[in-house]
Amino acid sequence: MNVFVIGVGLIGGSIAIDIKAVFDDVTVFGIDASEDNLETAISLGFIDKSSTFANLNEADIVVISVPVDITEIVLPQVLDKVSENCLVFDVGSTKERLCTIIEHHSNRACYLATHPIAGTEFSGPKAALANLFRGKVNIVCEIEKTGLQQRELALDLFNRLGMRICYMDAEAHDKHIAYVSHLSHISSFMLGKTVIEKEKNECNIFDMAGSGFASTVRLAKSSPTMWTPIFNQNKENIIDALDEYINNLTEFKKLMQSNRNTDIFNEMKNTNRIKDILKGIE
Ligand code: NAP
Repeated sequence: MNVFVIGVGLIGGSIAIDIKAVFDDVTVFGIDASEDNLETAISLGFIDKSSTFANLNEADIVVISVPVDITEIVLPQVLDKVSENCLVFDVGSTKERLCTIIEHHSNRACYLATHPIAGTEFSGPKAALANLFRGKVNIVCEIEKTGLQQRELALDLFNRLGMRICYMDAEAHDKHIAYVSHLSHISSFMLGKTVIEKEKNECNIFDMAGSGFASTVRLAKSSPTMWTPIFNQNKENIIDALDEYINNLTEFKKLMQSNRNTDIFNEMKNTNRIKDILKGIE
């Protein structure tokens, strides 16, 4: 089986590692804008050979794992090149615009829109991890528009990688993910910014990092190259989420200003429910 991975960074690399582990007769080809990343991926052993778009007609599976603004450009080009039995899936964090862009492509049936809810704050091939997806949710959108053969191949692959599948339409995906992922990243970036601006002496930040700051600000280490196009593509949903979040912050501030300690206690007590909601998730 020939698998082509376009974008051999954290997610593409992690998928390549697992694909090589779960299929016997597989060759994984890498395509990447960065020659350095390709060389690293080959030296790490999860990409067998570098390749180009010209060879995509030989692909059985194409994984697109580049930033979402690049995926918009690359996906139609990939669909132009692949054979009608090929499975093409992307792993991008936004889904609605992408699904609309290729809606009428003659090879639409080759494509499956997916978003694995797994990752870290690190980027590039050295960040790729084995078993990153085991036990994690993979959101699959508009599966009814994907060909039967491609669906079977994709579900078999995701099953072998240990993923749990969650079906959603692309619009609902973008709305929900704005709250649970995109807002968390903005919140972390802006918390990091606030503290950096206040604590000019970085020693103080590091000394006090154990207080909860380090875990809350972890996502602020994430790549702006990846996140800027995500925020742009999901702008409307994220702005709605930000409005609600800012409103909650403002209300909390008002409670503090008016010394309403019982209400402050209750706000936190009610939010402790998150322990039950997230039980089993690290
Ligand atoms: P990454 O580690 O930065 O890997 C992306 C790779 O794509 C890099 O090697 C990058 O090269 C390369 N690239 C950039 N532009 C390209 C182009 N025009 N053609 C070919 N290759 C190109 O990013 P990632 O974290 O794996 O994210 C990839 C996708 O996964 C994104 O769509 C993201 O939304 C999605 N995703 C990420 C996570 C997460 O936690 N990170 C989780 C779920 C889904 P350079 O380094 O030179 O730019």
